[in-house]
Amino acid sequence: MQKILNYINGQLVEPVAGNYIDNYNPATGKVYSLCPDSDEQDAILAIAAAKAAFPIWSQYTTNQRSAILLKIAALIDLNNDALAQAESIDQGKPFWLAQKGEIPRAQSNMHFFATAIEHFASESHAMGDHAINYTLKTPLGVVTCISPWNLPLYLFTWKIAPALAAGNCVVAKPSEITPMTAYLFAKICMEAGLPPGVLNIVQGLGTKVGPALTTHPDVKAVSFTGGTKTGEQIAKVAAPLFKKLSLELGGKNPNIIFADCDFKKAVAESVRSSFTNQGEICLCGSRIFVERSIYDQFKTEFLAQVANLIVGDPLHAATKVGAIASKIHFEKVMSYIALAKEEGGQIIAGGHAVTLPGELSEGYYIAPTVIEGLAYNCRTNLEEIFGPVVTIMPFDSEEEVLQMANATQYGLAATIWTENVTKAHRVAAQIQAGIVWINCWLLRDLRTPFGGVKQSGVGREGGWEALRFFTEQKNVCIKLN
Ligand code: NDP
Repeated sequence: MQKILNYINGQLVEPVAGNYIDNYNPATGKVYSLCPDSDEQDAILAIAAAKAAFPIWSQYTTNQRSAILLKIAALIDLNNDALAQAESIDQGKPFWLAQKGEIPRAQSNMHFFATAIEHFASESHAMGDHAINYTLKTPLGVVTCISPWNLPLYLFTWKIAPALAAGNCVVAKPSEITPMTAYLFAKICMEAGLPPGVLNIVQGLGTKVGPALTTHPDVKAVSFTGGTKTGEQIAKVAAPLFKKLSLELGGKNPNIIFADCDFKKAVAESVRSSFTNQGEICLCGSRIFVERSIYDQFKTEFLAQVANLIVGDPLHAATKVGAIASKIHFEKVMSYIALAKEEGGQIIAGGHAVTLPGELSEGYYIAPTVIEGLAYNCRTNLEEIFGPVVTIMPFDSEEEVLQMANATQYGLAATIWTENVTKAHRVAAQIQAGIVWINCWLLRDLRTPFGGVKQSGVGREGGWEALRFFTEQKNVCIKLN
């Protein structure tokens, strides 16, 4: 059985206590590797290694840091297929999606911040001719990056790339549900010549290593992506210690279809925004609001396209919906389908687990599920499900749809479909969300601010925002005369 190892001080090492957790392949429901069950001892070693590496790494020129990060990006590219296969087996997503989307995006994350740091300049503010201010941006020191299981290497690199580029040393913790590509990434870092201790990866359970990673006095900042409840726990322990915090949390995103939309595009993209990666993307549109005059037409065409989505072996090219990432998450999604029925919803597509033949028979598969007839403010429509489940509801006016769309405690992303640009602007301005897509979905420019409002998070990632988060600003004022 393959053993995944921690990456501490430039070495691949066993957890100190020697304990491991079973790592499942969700497509088969079978254990296929072992993940370190790290504890506080491993976290402390990793933090110490990062602290020792900081004086050297932070003194590298931006050009030197950039060169190493570019080498890592190039090695991700070179190993694209192997990483995509590992991600698919570990997470359950279709191989093609990892190969064409997520692993290339992990490469872009490294490349983007490796080059961005070369342009991240100090600002200067002249006060007439009698004084000048300049603002230094210095790395923080040791920072913690904690990432979830849905887009494992993509979100892992999205955090560590700006942290490393800015000159920090990092202790990172991937989800114990998907530890594999972070382990392979450690090997890539070694091959690229990243100095020991600059990046450390502690694998294992958040409940066991999380407290040390978020409260240790040498940790200056915590960048977290995951569920809102976990974010709340981290804020509770880290905020009183005055650590810098970036929290990217859950979502319950509205997808608003106006009658004057480009119908063909709106339907096809709504299928994609509902079920890509089994609906396990924080940005998926899980509540579809359709203007009443086209509701029946939209529903018919949407259901016809959903019926064509093949639920199958994640490694098979024809598969559109793979396995749910873990048994526990599978059960959570199924429990929400049961809740929707209790709340009076009609299941108009899916609504059941799928059993595949042969060695996949124990895997965790759920048919793409569409539910109608629910009130906009019932639990199914307010709580995050994070699976291949969407609800569909009619609306009569802009005011009404805005009220329904804004009814949740979440505010991560929203999608609006209309050919009326004035209406698009007007609705976008009133939607409570950090990101609004008009006539598209998941079109990403890495320079833009990324994050949510309300219980979807605090702070922004991406572009200068990420580099600002991972640096401290110090203003120096010189009186000239
Ligand atoms: P969790 O909150 O369960 O876990 C996220 C990470 O935090 C994991 O590595 C987890 O480890 C770790 N963790 C758990 N408890 C602690 C703790 N006390 N201290 C420190 N770390 C801890 O989220 P999921 O992995 O279930 O991911 C799904 C969630 O992520 C969804 O809510 C989704 O919306 C959100 N998400 C948000 C995104 C955004 O950009 N806003 C993007 C992608 C996902 P372990 O796995 O061992 O518990």
